[in-house]
Amino acid sequence: NQPVLEIRNLSVDYGYDDTAIRALRGVDLTLHAGEVLGLAGESGCGKSTLAYAATRLLPPPGLITGGEVVFTSTRDDRRFDLLRADDRLLRASRWEDTAIVFQGAMNSLNPVYRIGRQLTDAIAAHRPRQSAAERTARAHELLELVGIPGDRLRSYPHQLSGGMRQRVMIAMALALEPQIVIMDEPTTALDVVVQRQIIQQLMRLRTELGFAVVFITHDVSLLIELADRIAVMYAGQIIEDATAVEMYRAPRHPYTDGLLHSFPPLHGPRQELGGIPGSPPDLMALPSGCAFAPRCRFAFDRCRTDQPVLTKTALGDEEPHRRVACLQHDRDVTAIPDSLMVRH
Ligand code: ATP
Ligand code: MG
Repeated sequence: NQPVLEIRNLSVDYGYDDTAIRALRGVDLTLHAGEVLGLAGESGCGKSTLAYAATRLLPPPGLITGGEVVFTSTRDDRRFDLLRADDRLLRASRWEDTAIVFQGAMNSLNPVYRIGRQLTDAIAAHRPRQSAAERTARAHELLELVGIPGDRLRSYPHQLSGGMRQRVMIAMALALEPQIVIMDEPTTALDVVVQRQIIQQLMRLRTELGFAVVFITHDVSLLIELADRIAVMYAGQIIEDATAVEMYRAPRHPYTDGLLHSFPPLHGPRQELGGIPGSPPDLMALPSGCAFAPRCRFAFDRCRTDQPVLTKTALGDEEPHRRVACLQHDRDVTAIPDSLMVRH
């Protein structure tokens, strides 16, 4: 499949002097048309920052300090770098090409307006020539698409359950039939059963409508199940990027291995991962070599001085889609236990 979004060497700081937090450091990631790309990593590794920066929605004090984000439309011949696009182009592209469901979005519905009004307003902003009746019909259709009875258009947000509000946000993201939908922790505030339902529905819609998905979550086992490809972040960098099958067979980066063997807390204070002692580095004072070296049980001298680069592994031909940023990337880390492979 052709690339729809090519993120190259993307760097983001929060702040601008030597107290700046280096939230993203040269991130390289490609999203292909129709693909489900999972983005995983501990709290604070930069997942949301990546989603915001790649869509030019990064709020201050966030500062994009370098890189490019090239969007290539699969429907027409538009191709442009989002980081260099002017406001007009960005406004036209936002929600039309790329829609994002923000972390905690289900609480961002306006409490004083009915669901229908919020959906039709979102459509109206981009489809000014549509009649009110057409917009309402579309809003109705969108609600049903995400499994909510159309007559719920008349409900206020507080009259809907958390799961329903989350579905409304997904409906809103799909309103203009974007080519890319980014979901930042879309379901973690919901109970597991509702989470499953929403994700399954999303995957059905993806198959139907053909958009590409970037799915951000702490739950790597969920990604192994539903993503085509998984990128793992650590301290502002992608440290492993592989197909879900490659990842399931064997993680190659010791950090990925740790992630897969433990269950990091969803929110709140950072805690130690099961298999990995220590905590992520201070993004204001990063170590000189590999950012993970201080926690890595395989680290040797060179890991503390040399920055590993995201490259193909020594097994290149056997795992053509995998890239790892580790100086000993050809080492086989323990395979994931079968117990992690949950089927539903
Ligand atoms: P989580 O899983 O908790 O959502 P995340 O991977 O999405 O975490 P980000 O929110 O992208 O992480 O944050 C990356 C880093 O940037 C963190 O160290 C965070 O403290 C820092 N950061 C995020 N937003 C700001 C801000 N507005 N000002 C300063 N630092 C920030
Ligand atoms: Mg986040």
